Amino acid sequence: MAKYHLTLAHLYGDLMNTYGDIGNITALQYYAGKMDTDIAVKVISIEENFNPDEFDLAFFGGGQDYEQTVVSKDIQGKKDAIKEFIEANKPMLAICGGYQLLGHYYIGAAGEKIPGIGALDHYTLSQDHHRFIGNITIKNEETGQVYHGFENHNGRTFLGKDERPLGMVISGHGNNGEDKTEGAIHKFTFCSYFHGPILTRNGELAKRILIKALENKYPDADLSQAKALTIKPTF
Ligand code: GLN
Repeated sequence: MAKYHLTLAHLYGDLMNTYGDIGNITALQYYAGKMDTDIAVKVISIEENFNPDEFDLAFFGGGQDYEQTVVSKDIQGKKDAIKEFIEANKPMLAICGGYQLLGHYYIGAAGEKIPGIGALDHYTLSQDHHRFIGNITIKNEETGQVYHGFENHNGRTFLGKDERPLGMVISGHGNNGEDKTEGAIHKFTFCSYFHGPILTRNGELAKRILIKALENKYPDADLSQAKALTIKPTF
């Protein structure tokens, strides 16, 4: 029996889960195990209530344009709850299609406007008959950490206020192929175009997310053992 217990909301886990993004949850559970922590996972999908008080962390994966259109309609009803979760400094990881839907809108490959919830201040345009596909490497400016992944997206995302990039592009395309940014950070919400999944290859980011979730839930606990966890490079 683990000492600490976290509960994770897998937002639209049955619809938004491209390229094995669910592996991010496996990675979180793996590293959590090394922190004497277990994670219970609950999928929150269409017409299901999302109560931010029930969850310590959240994951929102990528998806095809069609699934994003379906989720776009439902997520408007969860907008306030998701914003409340984010603004309460609870950690969330959002990948690709999930990242796009946390912003204002995404113009899909067929030119359709898919509304997001504007929880973060970015917007996403499309590109004609082209996708950004391939390996990508970025550097997080605050920690100096280098993250490796694989991107595959039509969308070109432009960041707004109160968000900074997850990293600056060393090689690959990133958010939009223009400004060298990749992903976004607002409070403890981390967004990225990385599949792969990002946390299986970049354990330092998993550690950051888990420690924040533990600090929130167990403010008086001595988390020095968790903080001392060494992450072995996986690439
Ligand atoms: N459909 C979106 C795009 O092509 C998101 C893709 C994804 O989540 N992999 O940009």
